[in-house]
Amino acid sequence: MRSHLLSDATTEQYRSSVAQGVERVAATLAATDRPFTGITPDALAPRVDAIDLDQPLGDTGAALAELDSVYLRDAVYFHHPRYLAHLNCPVAIPAVAAEAVLSAVNSSLDTWDQSAGATLIERRLIDWTAARIGLGPAADGVFTSGGTQSNLQALFLAREEALSRGADPARLRVLASECGHFSVRTSAKLLGLPDDAVVALPCDHDRRMQPEALQRELERCTRDGLTPMAVVATAGTTDFGSIDPLPAVADLCARHGAWLHVDAAYGCGLLVSPTRRHLLDGIEAADSVTVDYHKSFFQPVSSSAVLVRDRDTLRHATHHSDYLNPRRAVAERIPNQVDKSLQTTRRFDALKLWMTLRVMGADGVGSLFDEVLDLAGAAWRVLDADPRFEVVARPTLSTLVFRRMPAGIVAPSAVDRANLHARKALSAAGQGVVAATTVRGSHYLKFTLLNPRTTLADITAVLDLLAEHADRYLDTTTTGEPLVHA
Ligand SMILES: *Cc1c(COP(=O)(O)O)cnc(C)c1O
Repeated sequence: MRSHLLSDATTEQYRSSVAQGVERVAATLAATDRPFTGITPDALAPRVDAIDLDQPLGDTGAALAELDSVYLRDAVYFHHPRYLAHLNCPVAIPAVAAEAVLSAVNSSLDTWDQSAGATLIERRLIDWTAARIGLGPAADGVFTSGGTQSNLQALFLAREEALSRGADPARLRVLASECGHFSVRTSAKLLGLPDDAVVALPCDHDRRMQPEALQRELERCTRDGLTPMAVVATAGTTDFGSIDPLPAVADLCARHGAWLHVDAAYGCGLLVSPTRRHLLDGIEAADSVTVDYHKSFFQPVSSSAVLVRDRDTLRHATHHSDYLNPRRAVAERIPNQVDKSLQTTRRFDALKLWMTLRVMGADGVGSLFDEVLDLAGAAWRVLDADPRFEVVARPTLSTLVFRRMPAGIVAPSAVDRANLHARKALSAAGQGVVAATTVRGSHYLKFTLLNPRTTLADITAVLDLLAEHADRYLDTTTTGEPLVHA
């Protein structure tokens, strides 16, 4: 069995096993002509269940061959130009190479004595990102598993700051827009905040936070003796890609002494955009920022970071443990990243971004994101001019929320069902993958564009297919209810 453990004695086995894995993926990618086979959980589950985990195959090649039928053949492929659903990106090849390196060396980023250079590389990337944001000389941060964890840590620090200034825990409030990410609510719950702590501010027509609404709420907090422990501005809402008016929000936060957290999980790619960095103007005033490199930096999952303006605030996450990161290590200036993290053992995800920047450069990454944003603009013009569809908001980033709106008079519930059906039918036929959301209680379809290889022709083809599926549903379905005036 020792032959399966990576060591100086097994480098040949290592080479051949990893190469076989790479070969299997490369062959699959080369033969994949659709983003998804449309397989259902019921069809796939028996294949997974049939495998006897107590009967090992003894050989990587055999296990990879078996993996084909339970995973690779029916996986959802984000590199395919007709994958248009969620915030998943095609991944940068230098990052995939880094992934193989980092898991083989297996550094753990909790302490210097488990990571050495890896810690320094992560620190350089945190400094680089903080400088791109403009957070100033005292900035710091740490890599995390994703935007959800980054938001949790930011709100944790904000809460501790508020409590350290004597705030009443029962009177803490978090102000976010109604288009903010759900992890803000989950974080509030995990942090033990009161049930009504998260206040969802109304958005304007473009799905951006309204500074007037924020101001009213901040004034209400003052009047009612509540502490706005954090304002969460979103730079790239998940559904609409809208960016809250950061300068105005920052100004209000400064006046009311509220911690400003900017959730740029999606919009962070603008930090490297050669043409659109200005869309993030104001982000430099944040107290904390979430970035998801695994969204708009074309990094494999997981790769995210939380950044803070004042590194002192990270002390709230610090616990000195005698066996791991004793207090004396601080005096000895040993860089232990666990001092800043909610995790202990932690992947060297930073290496992926490092390799990507060293190969492609920041402009290279940013121009790929720009291509996607240009495509989204073009796709919006197509949708806006197409009488078959109703499109919700003009995209700042790369999402489009729309629905098939049949001419004539059709019951709203039938329109809802037709759009839901169109999405399912498209995916089941392997023609494309799109997402869905609701707007004012109605069902809409959603494109999230993150693939520079997707063309306008792909978009129009998928729109035609969606319209066909929706219309066939409306033509053939017997809903039992009359198609009445809306
Ligand atoms: C995706 C997203 C998150 C959550 O990030 P994960 O990496 O999925 O945990 C948070 N906020 C916004 C705005 C997002 O789009």
